Amino acid sequence: MAVKLMSKDYVEYINLTAKKIEAKGEYITNLDAATGDGDHWVNINSGFQKLVSISDELASLPVSDMLKKVGMTLMSAVGGSSGVLYGSAYIAAAKGAKGKEYLTISDISDMLEAMVNAIMERGKTQPGQKTMVDALYPASVSLKKAIAEGKSEADAFEAMKRASIDGADGTKDMEAVRGRACYQANKGVGHLDPGAVTMSYQIACLADFAKSKI
Ligand code: ADP
Ligand code: MG
Repeated sequence: MAVKLMSKDYVEYINLTAKKIEAKGEYITNLDAATGDGDHWVNINSGFQKLVSISDELASLPVSDMLKKVGMTLMSAVGGSSGVLYGSAYIAAAKGAKGKEYLTISDISDMLEAMVNAIMERGKTQPGQKTMVDALYPASVSLKKAIAEGKSEADAFEAMKRASIDGADGTKDMEAVRGRACYQANKGVGHLDPGAVTMSYQIACLADFAKSKI
């Protein structure tokens, strides 16, 4: 069997992610308090809770429209830089998914690539600058590589998950070039980037959910 995520499945994944994010309030708030202004969890959590509240509407839309609506919702419900970045990412994902009934593993790979490119363009950032990109870029690259190498879907999603968790962990030693941490005297070195951590939660949930649907 192969993964085929329809809108209703993607919404199920969003609901699982929302639960994961909701449970990590204190941890993420502390991370953003250390290097930023402490609001990242409140921002991202309110965005995902808003998505949960419109689950039925999202599930009823064609895939591309659903992704666009996710983007528009995150853009307006999530404050801070991350709202605009997630909005741009999902709107780019929606463009790539036009006309599709469901998302296969290759579609998911294309989607992650479109998302990370949109974030890098919008945020004027690259991997290695201590941002959410450091969890998403390696996830996108490793999924694409695993598919090209002919790995099983389960192994490919697992590689994506691992790369994203390792990528988020790697932000601890990075000097921030973008985001509020770059205003700190030591550029946030010694602290994880909160946006990279919440991105890795999303990727890990996506991997686990997709694996359950193979
Ligand atoms: P703000 O920084 O406006 O308070 P949030 O606290 O919601 O917004 O989000 C902070 C996270 O956003 C950071 O941890 C980082 O991962 C990400 N981020 C900030 N600026 C950028 C950027 N220019 N490019 C990519 N990601 C960024
Ligand atoms: Mg913040």
